[in-house]
Amino acid sequence: MTKYIFVTGGVTSSLGKGIIAASLAKLLQARGYSATIQKFDPYINVDPGTLNPYEHGECYVTDDGAETDLDLGHYERFLNTPTSQANNVTTGRVYQYVINREREGAFLGKTVQVIPHITDEIKRRIRLLGNENKYDVVITELGGTVGDIESLPYIEAVRQLKWELGNENCLVVHLTLIPYLKAAKELKTKPTQHSVKMLSENGVHPDIIVCRTEEPLYNDLKKKIALFCNVRPEAVIEARDADTIYGVPIEMMVEKLDIIALKLLELPLGNEPELIKWKEFLTKLRYPKTKVTVGLIGKYVELQDAYKSILESLIHAGAVNECKVEVRNIHSEYLTPENAAEKLQNLDAVLVAPGFGSRGIEGKIDAIRYAREENIPFFGICLGMQMAAVEFARNVLGHKDAHSTEMNADTQHPVIHLMDEQKDILHKGGTMRLGAYECTLDPASRMAGIYGKTLIQERHRHRYEFNNDYLDAFEKSGMLPVGKNPSSGLVEVIELTGHPFFIGTQFHPEYKSTVENPHPLFVAFVKAAKQRQETKKEEANYEKNLSHN
Ligand code: GLN
Repeated sequence: MTKYIFVTGGVTSSLGKGIIAASLAKLLQARGYSATIQKFDPYINVDPGTLNPYEHGECYVTDDGAETDLDLGHYERFLNTPTSQANNVTTGRVYQYVINREREGAFLGKTVQVIPHITDEIKRRIRLLGNENKYDVVITELGGTVGDIESLPYIEAVRQLKWELGNENCLVVHLTLIPYLKAAKELKTKPTQHSVKMLSENGVHPDIIVCRTEEPLYNDLKKKIALFCNVRPEAVIEARDADTIYGVPIEMMVEKLDIIALKLLELPLGNEPELIKWKEFLTKLRYPKTKVTVGLIGKYVELQDAYKSILESLIHAGAVNECKVEVRNIHSEYLTPENAAEKLQNLDAVLVAPGFGSRGIEGKIDAIRYAREENIPFFGICLGMQMAAVEFARNVLGHKDAHSTEMNADTQHPVIHLMDEQKDILHKGGTMRLGAYECTLDPASRMAGIYGKTLIQERHRHRYEFNNDYLDAFEKSGMLPVGKNPSSGLVEVIELTGHPFFIGTQFHPEYKSTVENPHPLFVAFVKAAKQRQETKKEEANYEKNLSHN
């Protein structure tokens, strides 16, 4: 039978429930258990697809086309297994389903209420993944903080499930904060006591307490937390601030989080966790031999979470290349043809980010022009690829007003235009071209060399596409459409000949990079950045020698 672990959060948000959940799942997986993680978000949006990245960070996309919370990205990057629609549920989705059933008459005249109808639906969704018989353990992360009004139905559903399935089949891990008061030089447990009390008042008693802390939790403090919060002393786990999120599974292994969880679930401990590849990755990450600087050009750069998967993919790729990737955030709104050189000339590579709407668009185009003309490795993702096409049409083909119809509906040269199947769509939620699609690569292309194959599958999230009326002109001038969807003929990849590295992808490769499978495109991109750096050094040396002679 599948066992269930719930991860709740107390005291404050942003403690890293997703990372703790992913780390625990990783350790269980490394001991031979099959585990998956799902996230329940208490907000009323049906999914985060319609949310501004400033509100909620990046929208992550699964193979089956779900627009999800960015924590699902962490789950995939840690576990190296894909997630799906079922792995992210919001209050909006739960209510939508229950209300639709009510309209169908499914409740036979009953009054539809939070308890039992909403809680039943939450429980049904918690158990969906368990019912597949694929997983030994399903970890459910409950978004929000204990004490929030909107979290109550979820806590109640956990209470009921614990009661129905028994304590040995349901485990609650509560992640909390132990603040350090500098003036008193003391760690304080009171907020934790209060949040555990609040959880208990709602009928759920945590089995394990994971304590985020800046300072080490000495044993007496652990005992105190155990006593006041009514858990076993070995169930109080220290989670110290880590230098990298990828160090957390190892930290949790040292703290024996996996062992106490398995004991409480009455499961055999199995083998010692097998984390050889993980540790190799960590060593490379922590001890890089060189450093490259990549400019990330976007309009949400002040918010780190907005480009989460891209930043993580660059970390994975850096480790493979044994080099630290320093990301320089460059706000596209403040980039102009006049300052492009000053802002970009010292970069080893340029990545133009995905996005929507016209804010900062000309800055992206200026950055692409500079990277193209100055032979700086360039990688454009989704909107970044579309703007590479616009830049090429304007400055190489000479169509001065070329644009995407997303930004200029009346352009004479719509090199990027709305996909046919998007033309009659009015609703915004879940209606883009979403999820994994096949793409065939030209065997002679750089792309095919990078992937080592010619049929790939990557994830999409867009409404606009490359306009095939311009295919010939692009090809003749050296911008090659080297990747196409085999059934629709949509251009998915463009590649510039005669440039050290200039690739634009309509898809989002960043969604598929994991610790154990770093994405080949990001690996090749960072490698190209390293090469540029070396070439620049050689050129500088050459010039120095010349001046000496
Ligand atoms: N706005 C563009 C489109 O919808 C690009 C989307 C993206 O970058 N994800 O096609």
